[in-house]
Amino acid sequence: MGAEGSLGAPPALRAFLCPTQLARHNSSVQSRAPESLRHTAAFSSASQSEAQAALAALERLGDAEGRAIFDGSLRAALTPFRTHAALEVICGRRECGRRIAWWALDTDAAFVAATERRARPRERLGGMRDLAKPLPRKNHGLLPWIELAQSGTTSVRIADWRNPSGYPLRLKFICRCGSVYTTTNTRRIQLYLTALSRGSGTILL
Ligand SMILES: [Zn+2]
Repeated sequence: MGAEGSLGAPPALRAFLCPTQLARHNSSVQSRAPESLRHTAAFSSASQSEAQAALAALERLGDAEGRAIFDGSLRAALTPFRTHAALEVICGRRECGRRIAWWALDTDAAFVAATERRARPRERLGGMRDLAKPLPRKNHGLLPWIELAQSGTTSVRIADWRNPSGYPLRLKFICRCGSVYTTTNTRRIQLYLTALSRGSGTILL
C-alpha cells in the first residue's frame, strides 16, 4: 500500500449517501428507463446526443479538475448518465486487449470512478452501483470503490489526493501485460462520453 493509504476520506466523500443525495439519486433512477432496458448493449440515439452535449459542456468549461468537478452546467449535462451501466475499459496495447476496469459516473460530481470488477449481478443497478465493493468493508467512511483502490490489490490505484476537490482525480490503471495508464479526471470523462456518443459500451485506453 502506498502513502495514499494512510489518508482519511475528505469530507466530500464522507457525505456520500446523505439524505439529500440519496433522494436526488433515487429520483434520477426513477426517471430513467425500466431497469430491464438499462443494461442492454444498445444505446439510444438520445443518449448519444446527450453525450455530445455533455462533451460540449466539458469543452466550454476547459477541464474537470479541482473544484470544476462541482460545476453546475457540467453536472447537469452529465445527469442522464448517472445511472448508466458501467463501461468496460480495455488495454490499448497491441496484442493485449485485456479488460482493465469498469468506469461509472459519480452520483453527484463530474467525476468518473473505477473498479477492476463489477458488483454482483443482482446489485448492478447502474452507475456507481455497478462497481465492485470490498467484502468485507473495512472503512465505511470511504466510498466502496475508493476503499478497493486504496487496498492496492486491484488494477485501479489512486494517483492523486492532493487537489482541492476532495476526490482522487488522477487514477492509475495497471494491466496484467505490464502497461500502466495514469488518467486525469478530464480524460476519463472525455473517454466515457466519447464512447457513449458513438453508441459504444467500451473504452480503449
Ligand atoms: Zn494490457
